[in-house]
Parts: sequence; structure tokens; C-alpha cells
Amino acid sequence: MENLLRRILLYLSVAGWARNIMSRWGVARRVALRFVAGETLDEAISATKALNARNLWVSLDYLGESVKRAEDTQEVVETYRSLLNHIHNQHLQASISLKLTHFGLDISEELCQTNLRRVLTDAKNFGIPVTIDMENTPYTDITLKIYRTMRDEYDFDNVGTVIQAYLRRSEADMQALGAEGAHIRLCKGAYLEAPDVAFPDKADVDANYAKIMHQYLQTPGYLCIATHDEKMIQAAENDIKTLKPTRYEFQMLYGIRSARQDALAAAGYPVRVYVPFGAAWYPYFMRRLAERPANVWFFAKGFFSR
Ligand SMILES: Cc1cc2nc3c(=O)[nH]c(=O)nc-3n(C[C@H](O)[C@H](O)[C@H](O)COP(=O)(O)OP(=O)(O)OC[C@H]3O[C@@H](n4cnc5c(N)ncnc54)[C@H](O)[C@@H]3O)c2cc1C
Repeated sequence: MENLLRRILLYLSVAGWARNIMSRWGVARRVALRFVAGETLDEAISATKALNARNLWVSLDYLGESVKRAEDTQEVVETYRSLLNHIHNQHLQASISLKLTHFGLDISEELCQTNLRRVLTDAKNFGIPVTIDMENTPYTDITLKIYRTMRDEYDFDNVGTVIQAYLRRSEADMQALGAEGAHIRLCKGAYLEAPDVAFPDKADVDANYAKIMHQYLQTPGYLCIATHDEKMIQAAENDIKTLKPTRYEFQMLYGIRSARQDALAAAGYPVRVYVPFGAAWYPYFMRRLAERPANVWFFAKGFFSR
């Protein structure tokens, strides 16, 4: 039942008709704002300052994906450049996260790379790290290819990417990336995928996450342990105690397990919060609903208490 609900919500996350209805619906917007810092850059900066004051680092994500018109990507590039200026000028402890389909990958790889270079040039000048998020499997190979191209042009600590533990290929990808000393965020994976490419059972995804994490913490790579799962967090704490890695941090999403974020930071671990902002919150919000069925009831409660 839970798996079916997850699949329905993930289907709705990419359905244009559902986006059109939900995005105009005030209740959905209100509930989505639990997971999103706001629709404007100023709101994102305020949220970053509040998190920094709690000793939490931030990764800022300007929401959007699957852009189909080249002219629309210019606004995306300029928003990210403005964001970098704010981070630099206001001395914020923040990196940025971005999606290649937001930068025009569905239009052409060349446009996407040109856009990316404009942002990476500023990021490198300011010394602000950039993570290329991982989208669904049609984009896995191309994302890894563009990541490696950019990483070779800009240096390791400025550019990182993401590996999803639900993919059967990820253990092999992580072995190669670890040997390269790559900056990797390890997450479970948030999209609808077929069983031939992704483990359908949560227990297998969890086991793969713990295994890959354990292996990667013994490589020269930098690992961002991105999870809210208490079992994964405790496995990470055990690995950190026994393997004594120095190149790692914990990461969680804005609005999810905030008290646990504070507790990890208080225990002395580096913790970064992924802070999305912008008007295109619909697919991001639906992926968060799909991760936890209880969120659907939270949403329904918001509807009935209008
Ligand atoms: C910093 C960060 C960046 C990410 N970047 C990507 C990316 O680039 N590509 C990608 O595919 N995925 C990305 N994800 C999402 C990730 O793949 C998972 O879908 C998501 O983190 C849920 O997995 P989990 O490890 O928290 O474990 P789960 O087993 O899903 O959840 C464990 C527990 O965490 C809590 N929890 C989890 N999700 C929620 C929620 N939405 N609301 C409330 N409580 C929740 C619940 O208590 C739940 O029982 C990212 C996640 C993080 C933290």
C-alpha cells in the first residue's frame, strides 16, 4: 500500500496537469512551504542566516527542472550568480546545488555546459562549492560525464555530484569515484525507477546505502552522508568512530528532522541543510510527500482546516 502510494505521488510529480492544478492551489503552497524556504531569494538568504546561527551549513537550491526553452535558462543562470554574490558578500556558510535539466540539458548538452560554466566560474572565484544534483536514470550517465568534465576544469572541492543508493549500478560507480577522490553526496534516491535498474525493496536500498557508505569512507573521496534515516545515521556514526575519516559531512533537507540536525551539530559533526527556494516547488514537494505517507495526512489536514 505504502509503495503504491509512493508510485502514485511520484507519477503525479511529473504530470503537467497535476502541476497546473496544485501550483495554483493555496493550500498546497502553504503545506509545500514546510519543505521550502520561500519563493524569493531574500527568503532563502534569511533561512540561510538562521541555519548558520544554529551552526548548520547550507546548500541553496533554486527550484526548477526540465526546462524546455533556451531563453528560460538565462534567468536560472542569473539567479544562481546573484545567489553566489549574496553568499560571498554576506559571508554565509553556504554552497549551491543545481540540476542539469534546469540548466537546459533537455535542450542541448552544449547549452547546459555553457550555462554551467558561467556559474562555476563565479563559484570558483568566490571559493563556493557546487553540487550537481542527480535526477532520474535517463540522466545518470550524462550527469556523471558532465560532472567529471567540470571537475577537471574546476577543482575537486568546488564541484561535486550525487549518487543514489537505490540504483544497482551505484556500488560500482562509487568504487570508481572513490579512487578519483570525488566529492559525492550519497542519498537513497527520490525518483520512480524500474526494478531492473533500482532495488524495489526498501530493505535492499538501506543495505546498499550502508555498504556503499562504509566503503566510500575508506577512500580519498569526500562523502556527504545525506539521509534522515536514523539507522543510516547511526551506521555512519559507527563508521566515523572506527574508520576515522576526515573528509565527510552529514546532510539533511530543510524542514525535515530539524532537531536531529541540531543534535548532530552539537555532537561536533559537520552538518549541512539543503535549502530549496523558488516558485517551481511542485515536483520537489511531491517527491517529499512520496517519501513519507504521513506527509499526505499532514497535507490533507491542511486542506480540511482551510
Ligand atoms: C541533502 C539531500 C540532498 C538530496 N539530493 C538528492 C538528489 O540529488 N537526487 C535524489 O534522487 N535524491 C536526493 N535526495 C533525496 C533522497 O534521495 C531521499 O529521497 C530522501 O532523503 C529520503 O531518504 P532518507 O535517506 O531520508 O530515508 P527514508 O528511509 O526515506 O526516511 C527515513 C526517515 O526519515 C524521515 N523522512 C524522510 N523523508 C521525509 C520527508 N519527506 N518528510 C518527513 N520525514 C521524512 C522519516 O522519519 C523517515 O522514516 C537528497 C536528500 C538529501 C537529504
